[in-house]
Amino acid sequence: MYDALTTRYTFACPRRGEARVALSAFRRLEQLPGPAQPAVFEVDFECACGGEHPGLVPHDELDWTPLGLGERSYLNLMTARLDSVEAELADLAARHIQAGEWPWSFFCYPEERPRPVFPSAFVVLAPAEGREEVGIAVRCPVCSNVSINLVTAPHLDVPFHNDREIGVVEHVFAADAERVVEEFPAELYSACFDARRLHLH
Ligand SMILES: [Zn+2]
Ligand SMILES: [Zn+2]
Repeated sequence: MYDALTTRYTFACPRRGEARVALSAFRRLEQLPGPAQPAVFEVDFECACGGEHPGLVPHDELDWTPLGLGERSYLNLMTARLDSVEAELADLAARHIQAGEWPWSFFCYPEERPRPVFPSAFVVLAPAEGREEVGIAVRCPVCSNVSINLVTAPHLDVPFHNDREIGVVEHVFAADAERVVEEFPAELYSACFDARRLHLH
């Protein structure tokens, strides 16, 4: 489903049969309730056919596969420790992380600091009007608050590529995902984005 060479996920498209989709073309992510292991995420994605479709992605494929990590790997971003990893595949990711680089990051507005993050923490995404960047609502894995950042597509699509500076909406969002999805478009289109530097080292 995920192709590391093209950094695209493959989904079904009702019009063209198949869609290859970058993370930045995701529009909404939601973990499905239930005991499935790994957990399954339902995503809505913007398709090259012009439509928006739903698709399913298992948690490990969403967060680990882009890093070359198998499902038995465990990566702790907070301590930069990589536990029980299939060494060969994960070698590159391990070296990046040991050098203090994060595969994905965002700026947590309530905490006023950058945080490492996985794609499963993304709640809702949309292209910013009249700009090349993508607006993204991210739930902080540490404080659980949702922040809106404005980032480039490679910041999302290319693991370990982090924008030096990103836009941050100065607004603390409601904790529940439905309210975030409701508030997101208005904040994205009306808000001034304040630039923050992602000091990752
Ligand atoms: Zn389509
Ligand atoms: Zn936070």
